[in-house]
Amino acid sequence: MSRVLVVASKRTYRLDDITAAGARLGLALVLATDRCHVLASEWKDDILTLRSLTDRDEACRVIAVSHALAPFTAIVGTCDLSTELAAYASRRLGLPTNPPQAAALARHKGRMRQVLQDAGVAVPPFHEFSLRADGSVPVAELVRAAEQDLGWPVVVKPVLLSGSRGVMRVDDAAGMEVAARRLGAILADPELRASGEEGHRRVLVERYVPGDEVAVEGLLRDGALSVLAFFDKPDPLTGPFFEETLYVTPSRHPPARQAAVVRAVQDAVRAMGLVQGPVHAEVRITPEGVPFVIEAAARSIGGLCSRMLRFGTGRTLDEVVLGAAVDRALELPAREAQAAGVMMIPVPRAGTLHGWEGEAEARAVEGVVEVTITARPHEELVPLPEGQSYLGFIFARARTPDAVEAALREAHRRLRFEVTPRLLA
Ligand code: ADP
Repeated sequence: MSRVLVVASKRTYRLDDITAAGARLGLALVLATDRCHVLASEWKDDILTLRSLTDRDEACRVIAVSHALAPFTAIVGTCDLSTELAAYASRRLGLPTNPPQAAALARHKGRMRQVLQDAGVAVPPFHEFSLRADGSVPVAELVRAAEQDLGWPVVVKPVLLSGSRGVMRVDDAAGMEVAARRLGAILADPELRASGEEGHRRVLVERYVPGDEVAVEGLLRDGALSVLAFFDKPDPLTGPFFEETLYVTPSRHPPARQAAVVRAVQDAVRAMGLVQGPVHAEVRITPEGVPFVIEAAARSIGGLCSRMLRFGTGRTLDEVVLGAAVDRALELPAREAQAAGVMMIPVPRAGTLHGWEGEAEARAVEGVVEVTITARPHEELVPLPEGQSYLGFIFARARTPDAVEAALREAHRRLRFEVTPRLLA
């Protein structure tokens, strides 16, 4: 039985799905995590507890000791940070992996931009800045970059965060003052400071790319990209903040445009040096039809979103990704014929979540196959750009992408969340 190490942050939603996939594939999964509280019983005897996912040397030592007792066939990550650690640990143990530098690059928005630009992949022009010694964002320099080079509007973002956290469209110098303060406050988070990662002191300002956004879910083997799913993101993602909300597949864009997007993603991952494992890329297609790579991550789609995908005779995305990690010759099954989609339910406003209604009504919408609320009653909700989570997920399947999108919107309309605004001190 192949032993596979799953590296996961304490924040992941995905362990249940990965556990189920491992069981169906007959794999012995071991978990390496920075989570310290009690875990699901399936993992009880198969846990490596890590002090931190950023303490790479300690983590690699712990993993190497376990490998010496019973060898791993593969090490996989579940998010950007755990994927980077998985690559370093795999290299240390001589297991197949992306080059660790490539995995690190995929997590760093500034370095990724530079490598893609140098390789001639279409990316927005950008400038990267360090925070000042006092932790503030050098706002005058960002304004100068926008006025003298990029042109308004621009997008500002921290280089190492994910899930659209801290990503803001800024339209003018006055807006930059406000955005810079918010960005500085986000990066002052003690947990980020404690990580010791230099990237948490760096921010990016780049040209705003207008157009339709799409996403590509792919799998790399020996550098060749196989597309597992091509998604439309049909909500207008024009900012000022960028909630991910809807993903619907198959795409309604013409095949030639989809092919141009896939070529851009293949060029991007080649330039970055990624050669194997899952890829999730977000791409904007400008009104002129040019695909701009916004990001290419060395992991699969986040949250519970992968539940919308089914392959071959009903395999999940986690089964395909884990299967390919242990069997490099695995024949990749095609996605099922019907359309599918997910809505990541955005946080409507800051405050305390008291409860919600309408779950049964949302589930009753034709085409809706699952409604999962991941937020908990009494939880403090923080919307983007400061926040980092969603209320839950709605999944739908139907004959056409239009029907999927309509079902997701209708189900969302039926859900009502009771949120009491936080009282200002
Ligand atoms: P994250 O990895 O945190 O999700 P991204 O850089 O992918 O951060 O940005 C999140 C979202 O913000 C993108 O999916 C896109 O909708 C929007 N966005 C980011 N950069 C730009 C840009 N330069 N132009 C237009 N939209 C952008």
